Amino acid sequence: MTSQATRTLVLRHADVLVTMDSQRREIADGALVAVDGVVDWVGPSSELPARHDEAVRAGSARLLDLRGHVVVPGLVNTHHHMYQSLTRVLPAAQDAELFGWLSNLYPVWAGLTPEMVRVSTLTAMAELLLSGCTTSSDHLYIYPNGSRLDDSIEAAAQIGMRFHAARGSMSVGRSQGGLPPDEVVEDEASILKDTQRLIETWHDDRRHSMLRVVVAPCSPFSVSRELMRDSALLARSFGVSLHTHLAENDNDVAYSRERFGMTPAEYAESLGWVGPDVWHAHCVKLDPAGIALFARTGTGVAHCPCSNMRLASGIAPVRAMRDQGVAVGLGVDGSASNDGAHMLGEARQALLLQRVGFGPAAMGAREALEIATLGGARVLGRDDIGALALGMSADFAAFDVRGPTHAGSGADPVAALVFCAPVQASTCVVDGRVVVEEGRVATLDLPVHLETHRRLAASLLEGSVRAAARR
Ligand SMILES: [Zn+2]
Repeated sequence: MTSQATRTLVLRHADVLVTMDSQRREIADGALVAVDGVVDWVGPSSELPARHDEAVRAGSARLLDLRGHVVVPGLVNTHHHMYQSLTRVLPAAQDAELFGWLSNLYPVWAGLTPEMVRVSTLTAMAELLLSGCTTSSDHLYIYPNGSRLDDSIEAAAQIGMRFHAARGSMSVGRSQGGLPPDEVVEDEASILKDTQRLIETWHDDRRHSMLRVVVAPCSPFSVSRELMRDSALLARSFGVSLHTHLAENDNDVAYSRERFGMTPAEYAESLGWVGPDVWHAHCVKLDPAGIALFARTGTGVAHCPCSNMRLASGIAPVRAMRDQGVAVGLGVDGSASNDGAHMLGEARQALLLQRVGFGPAAMGAREALEIATLGGARVLGRDDIGALALGMSADFAAFDVRGPTHAGSGADPVAALVFCAPVQASTCVVDGRVVVEEGRVATLDLPVHLETHRRLAASLLEGSVRAAARR
């Protein structure tokens, strides 16, 4: 018999360790031990069991001394389109609302290649990890030129991020009354077949899973009712989650009323798109009946405050959702509608935006952090991430609070993570492995990688200019 060495990681002397456990403990001079990617012990450094000290001295355990840092459970991103990190701040899409913004970008995205998907996903994941995010979902819904979701999945494994890969799709092109141009939509039988292949190839439903596959038609205005319905049936036959965009802005609601004669929430319910295995992005315009429906059925929401502001979509009623028990997580959304994917920044904007909409007590710093951790975990259907407690996945982020950004915030260093300007994580651990160390991604040569990213982004734009000239 061969015995495999255990991987032990010891964290100690964090100024504060935020657990998000059932008592919401915040431990001063905090310590944590992870064994094989799972939290084995949490408490004050003074009570760290001696055997772990000995393991560190003997060199059989990895030690992180996090003096001057606040440690939080790894942040959970519930909505993204990582390929969009190739098409940030395009002038033609800087100042438009959702439908105009999409119409200007679809022709550019039609030039995506498998290499572009892989490289942009790595870039987006590096950016997220550096912001303290350890688990992310990604919604890839456009597959031109042989691109596949496998390209994103391989990127996640390479960089070491916990990943929920959403197999998006678009099937109703402009000629059929949808929004996307016909050349970027797929036929529905191929979508379902490829989705099933991805689930069978990649989906891991075990506890502490690093990879789950999600069934995710893009939006009611880019797929048919039949694909929505069949996607739900497929997902449920495999026990995987469902994700789409819903009720993002007034035009989105108007499309639903005109085409389907229903509100977005009624449309979702009519096709089986409610339940604890479903989460919808945005829901800015979810009406009171929709909020009650989501609460009653355990349906989740990915709240994306920066994107909602960028596209002038509005203020999602997160206070009302939370008060009624709706599961809410945060999403940075794609890099072309929120040009900065910083999860701590997103928590900060969630707090600020709720206050603009609903008053100064609408959201506090700890609630924003809770939504960014436990909220995201619940939305993704996980009970093994979002908190640092015995038996949870060893995913955490450490923020150095000794810099100018946090000067003078010693009265409440935890709230300062949200109230002060967002800083980058100096350490990020996923599955008990150090992925960000001293502010650098340890699993990728980022400067070299970004050079490739720049070259591919430029070639995508040049290709779209040439294609436009041919039309
Ligand atoms: Zn989106």
